[in-house]
Amino acid sequence: MAKKNKNDTMEKIVSLCKRRGYVYPSSELYGGLTSCWDYGPLGSELKRNIKTFWWDAMTNRRDDIEGLDAAILMHPEVWKVSGHVDEFVDPMIDCKTCKARFRADKLEECRCGNKPSKTPLECGGELTEARNFNLMFKTFMGPIEDSSATIYMRPETAQGIYVNFLNVKNSSRQKIPFGIAQIGKAFRNEITPGNFIFRTREFEQMEMQYFVHPDEDEKWFEYWREQRWAWYESLGINMSKLRWHEHKDDELAHYAKAAYDIEYEYPFGWQELEGVHNRTDFDLGRHMEATGKDLRYFDERFTEKFLPYIVETSAGCDRTILTCLVDAYDEVEVKGDMRVFLRLSPKIAPIKAAVFPLVKKDGMPEAAKKICAELKKKFKVFYDEAGAVGRRYARQDEAGTPFCLTVDGQTLEDETMTLRDRDTMEQTRMRVEDVIKFLDEKVNG
Ligand code: ATP
Repeated sequence: MAKKNKNDTMEKIVSLCKRRGYVYPSSELYGGLTSCWDYGPLGSELKRNIKTFWWDAMTNRRDDIEGLDAAILMHPEVWKVSGHVDEFVDPMIDCKTCKARFRADKLEECRCGNKPSKTPLECGGELTEARNFNLMFKTFMGPIEDSSATIYMRPETAQGIYVNFLNVKNSSRQKIPFGIAQIGKAFRNEITPGNFIFRTREFEQMEMQYFVHPDEDEKWFEYWREQRWAWYESLGINMSKLRWHEHKDDELAHYAKAAYDIEYEYPFGWQELEGVHNRTDFDLGRHMEATGKDLRYFDERFTEKFLPYIVETSAGCDRTILTCLVDAYDEVEVKGDMRVFLRLSPKIAPIKAAVFPLVKKDGMPEAAKKICAELKKKFKVFYDEAGAVGRRYARQDEAGTPFCLTVDGQTLEDETMTLRDRDTMEQTRMRVEDVIKFLDEKVNG
């Protein structure tokens, strides 16, 4: 097995993503737009699969979590009350020589905006003092563009959950402890976006807020740390590349009692993938104070009225996609050629199986198309008859397809076909009903 060069792994992944239709630069025809990316045919499928995998684990397979899909645009007071207008800031510094801007607390990750091959101080320039920069994007609601019409693009999905706490509690009749889960876009005017889809200005979050009794917050905090760790394991991530990072007092957000990040070892170093936070009763308390609405909770188990504490699990969808791609990327030398394999788990792989007729004659294409149509009722499959079968395998290996099915002369006699496993390279003959059972187990098991 060939050794991977850490420095160019990201470049290779970015190029594979474009070649195979995972991710394209946004507005590429116009030269692209910094930090904005479009998900192509395979990328949009991978994204949807990851979101479904999260949604199933966090809502459908549980009785205690409800779903929500709140609007991106919210009442501007929400962001004043939540503290975002005053405190959602990053420290920004400028290079006095080349005028490039950097996030002061992430200087070691930054490249010079004017010369991306260089780090901030490599030009020999001098940096200004840090000053705070608010990350919220602003826009105007309605036809008049003045300060009374200013609204914000949400920088996190969580606030949509807090302001709907009463609605969801009343309509679902959930009892504490219970949670509300949401997947949606968030926007942050990041000072230094970068590392492909790792840090962008428009991104998607998969967040869950779990409402608990204040005396039980630590128990539920530990519970959710375990659950989220296990989720990445079930996603097929190499667990030796994940670690916990505890926020010490100097890192802890003003509202948080405890916070741990799940970090992944990307080619550009260990970075946050998801945060698990104990947000206390800060958010509900602030919204209760500002609106005068009683957000406290009462039930028989606790003979008192109390404001619930919140344990939050906040994962980036795009970061999870990047993690899966980086984790799955593999290069292997096959007969002197360097071949790329994208070893995505069948649970999230965009195409579950490719179907090939061995040759384009003798009734094989017709038989393969029939099998393909049967499989399409349950799985995303792909039919390919173009070129030598070895080339077709190679294309699917690179695209992350876990299984290839080849229809040959024997298929026409006994209705069996070969199923070839991308990772073990093993080939097994199966009938179509066994292929369906096999795929079902691999994809949904
Ligand atoms: P950082 O310190 O890296 O800016 P953060 O601690 O502010 O991140 P959170 O507010 O905890 O991030 O956001 C929760 C999750 O949302 C992160 O773990 C990450 O997966 C995702 N996320 C946050 N900002 C971005 C971004 N700019 N681009 C992509 N994903 C992001």
